[in-house]
Amino acid sequence: MRASVSDTVLIIGAGVAGMTAAVELADSGIRSVLVERASSMGGNALDLYKAFPTDDCFYCFEGNRWRPGIRKCFYRSAMVDQPNIEIKMGAEVKEIAGGPGDFKVRIAVSPTYVDPRKCTLCGLCSERSKAFHLLSPQCQPQAVTYDSSMADDGTRKAEEDCPTKAIKLDAQPSEETIGASDIVIATGYHEMKPIDMQEYGYGRIPNVITQLELAQMLDPNGKSGGVLLRPSDGAGVKQVMMVQCVGSRDEEHHPYCSKVCCVFALKHANIIATERQHSRVSVVYMDIRTYDRHERYYRESRDAGVEFIRGRVTRVEPRKDGAVNVTVYDSLLDKYLRSSVDLL
Ligand SMILES: Cc1cc2nc3c(=O)[nH]c(=O)nc-3n(C[C@H](O)[C@H](O)[C@H](O)COP(=O)(O)OP(=O)(O)OC[C@H]3O[C@@H](n4cnc5c(N)ncnc54)[C@H](O)[C@@H]3O)c2cc1C
Ligand code: SF4
Ligand code: SF4
Repeated sequence: MRASVSDTVLIIGAGVAGMTAAVELADSGIRSVLVERASSMGGNALDLYKAFPTDDCFYCFEGNRWRPGIRKCFYRSAMVDQPNIEIKMGAEVKEIAGGPGDFKVRIAVSPTYVDPRKCTLCGLCSERSKAFHLLSPQCQPQAVTYDSSMADDGTRKAEEDCPTKAIKLDAQPSEETIGASDIVIATGYHEMKPIDMQEYGYGRIPNVITQLELAQMLDPNGKSGGVLLRPSDGAGVKQVMMVQCVGSRDEEHHPYCSKVCCVFALKHANIIATERQHSRVSVVYMDIRTYDRHERYYRESRDAGVEFIRGRVTRVEPRKDGAVNVTVYDSLLDKYLRSSVDLL
């Protein structure tokens, strides 16, 4: 069956993949409806700070491999005003009927308390009430978000005083059915948290974190302003150890290689070694798989003084002073190494 390319395409999920699909379709004159259940587009990329391969802000990376050098800056581009993209925030698909070329899709949309087309980010509402805040400086649409669970005495006053009348506290949820010729599912991923892998201490020892949590710490727009601090006590971080292949290439968890974690770990190691010079980094690995042009992260982190240990972490224990004792079996030296780190 051939679907007409002039019909509307439904895209579910407005992370980088969904936004890219919408922009590429719009560039080709095809209309899309972008359904995102969160109150900001961007998905996981909102927390990632610099992105490989260019080390730019995640919203300013190259368009695609066929058009190298052309950058798509979602942050500055006016996706919200693009006539061929209809964005439904706080929305979820409830039912899909029909078939290719003629889908009927029922969508539930949460109330739009702040109209992103009217909000100028003047910040007045956040001064009146804690219920209004900007999710992230990179959030898209660029508008404040209203969290009804934090409503307080200043909330109504904020609505009255908003200079552009962007706030509608009595907005109601709605439901609608749209037609679509095609559906793109771009619902993304959740980072695996190694809670059931007791040997690493994640969830038990506060200074054991994931790479996504490290990315949030490195982000100058994050809570600590990009300064590496131990979650346990806020002390400065002098020694970081990264452990590769946690839950991957492991018959008891995921037998395959995730293919991306070596690259983002070395991207982070590089940032720490070059931009946070008071912190040292070591990486415990099985094999370094920085394929293709990403090999430069391996070369650059070695040059920047990152220490590489081929082997496996065998023991992790918290210390009373907040540091973490780690024992590593070094398979090249055939011996156990013991060290104390601030972040694992
Ligand atoms: C620590 C770390 C560092 C990384 N660094 C880089 C890097 O430097 N460069 C790089 O290219 N990649 C990097 N990546 C990979 C990158 O995060 C992903 O490739 C990219 O963010 C995936 O985007 P996505 O749109 O597919 O998914 P997501 O970002 O997960 O977005 C999915 C969106 O769909 C929405 N959604 C989910 N379900 C529904 C539903 N039912 N209805 C409506 N909406 C829904 C979600 O709310 C979300 O907004 C990194 C990954 C990690 C973990
Ligand atoms: S007062 Fe109105 S325009 Fe200003 S930030 Fe709040 S919602 Fe936006
Ligand atoms: S080899 Fe590297 S990319 Fe592959 S699973 Fe291990 S850490 Fe991830």
